[in-house]
Parts: sequence; C-alpha cells; structure tokens
Amino acid sequence: MDVTKDLNPVESRYMTGLYRLWESKGRLSTGVLASIFSVRPASVVDVLDRLEEKGLIERPRWGRIAFTRKGLATATKIIHNHRVLELYFRDRLGIPVSEACRQAGRIDHLVGDLVVRKMCEKLRYPERCIHGNEVRHTVCRRG
Ligand SMILES: [Zn+2]
Ligand SMILES: [Zn+2]
Repeated sequence: MDVTKDLNPVESRYMTGLYRLWESKGRLSTGVLASIFSVRPASVVDVLDRLEEKGLIERPRWGRIAFTRKGLATATKIIHNHRVLELYFRDRLGIPVSEACRQAGRIDHLVGDLVVRKMCEKLRYPERCIHGNEVRHTVCRRG
C-alpha cells in the first residue's frame, strides 16, 4: 500500500505540488501545474502520465486532473512528512526556513513512518507548518 517510496524525486514533487494546488484552489489543472513548476506543458504531461500509470491521478477531461483515493492518501502522507520535517529542521535544529523546506523536499517521500511519527510527537502535533499551512495528522495519529 505504501507507494511513496516508488516515486522518484520529480514525481514526489509533483504530488506535493498537486496537493498544494488542490488545498488552495480545490481543483487541479495541467496549465497551472506547468506554471508553478515553470516547465513546458509537455514535460508536465510526461510526469502526469507516469503518475496516472501508478494509479495516483486520473484525468477525466483534457487539462483536468483529479487525485485517485490512493493518490490523495499518498500526497497527504508526503505533505505531512514534508511539513513535519521542515518544522523539525527549523525549530529543533535552527535551520533557516528556505533551507529547511528544501532539505525536507529531498527526503519527504523516503523518510520512514516511525521517524516521522516520533518527530511529530516531539513537536506535539503542530497545527501549522513553517509556511503557515495546515498540518493534517491523519497519517500519524489514528483516531
Ligand atoms: Zn516547505
Ligand atoms: Zn503528524
């Protein structure tokens, strides 16, 4: 069930990018995605094809993207890891915000569940990440 480790860094970055879009706009499109990653729409389509093959997204109509149930669970988990890691890096290790975010982005899809859960516990299940976005603890705190 844990597909996060099958994602390469680019695919993982797309999943978190999609999640952020979905979180702020409530819907997803290929065009906006190309602009936030500042790449050609063609390269976006390439990555989206792979995410679709992995069963993480579906594209009901041209230009529109939706998370599958598995995709949303995966993105929620990676984003949770990202926000916990960057908070830990800044608050516990004194690393500046931009660097904390960048380093978190390199390992957020790879870090083990136990490590994240322990970090989250140490941080006392924070409500907001270092950018002020909500941290949802559905992954680490059952019930
Ligand atoms: Zn960040
Ligand atoms: Zn948590």
